[in-house]
Amino acid sequence: MSTVKLHDKEFRISIPETEIIKEISRVANEINRDYKGKRPILLGVLNGCFMFAAELLKRLDIECEVSFVKLSSYQGTASTGVIKEVIGLSESLGGRDIIIIEDIVDTGLTMQRMLESLGTREPASIEIASLFLKPARLQVPVNVKYSALTIPDRFIVGYGLDYNGLGRNLPNIYEAID
Ligand code: 5GP
Repeated sequence: MSTVKLHDKEFRISIPETEIIKEISRVANEINRDYKGKRPILLGVLNGCFMFAAELLKRLDIECEVSFVKLSSYQGTASTGVIKEVIGLSESLGGRDIIIIEDIVDTGLTMQRMLESLGTREPASIEIASLFLKPARLQVPVNVKYSALTIPDRFIVGYGLDYNGLGRNLPNIYEAID
């Protein structure tokens, strides 16, 4: 399938699964090297991370734990706008090495909020592994230590990422046709 239609929008293929897997393997090797002898907890951010998390975890040969969180958005006051709360975390993170698994870092605001929230739990370290990074869109300085693919400022779907609920199951990455 070189194009797909989701709701009202057409998308064309932009990154094939083989290339995604190659870059995930590279990231897995980096994590295996950096966390040798440690026991990190990998914290996936649902829903978008599920495919990336599965492919990454299959390639880790270090001792590690896995957990998943969701971010619930609710409207804050007019001055604070949308606030995201980290929900579903039951593990104690004190003294732990955390690796956040995210689908895509766009403005960086979600990861900034996540780092603030997890930071209050006194972990030993926190790093971010993101499947995609859109550097041109970053609004806040977020350090993404493990980034599989760097992409231009285009809306993408597939490999866990959706357009209004559809497209998460697509094994390749598609970009919106304007
Ligand atoms: P940020 O807070 O970094 O701006 O946004 C991160 C979230 O926005 C991602 O977890 C994802 O849900 C959504 N997002 C950002 N860019 C895209 C994109 O190109 N496609 C899709 N499907 N979601 C995106």
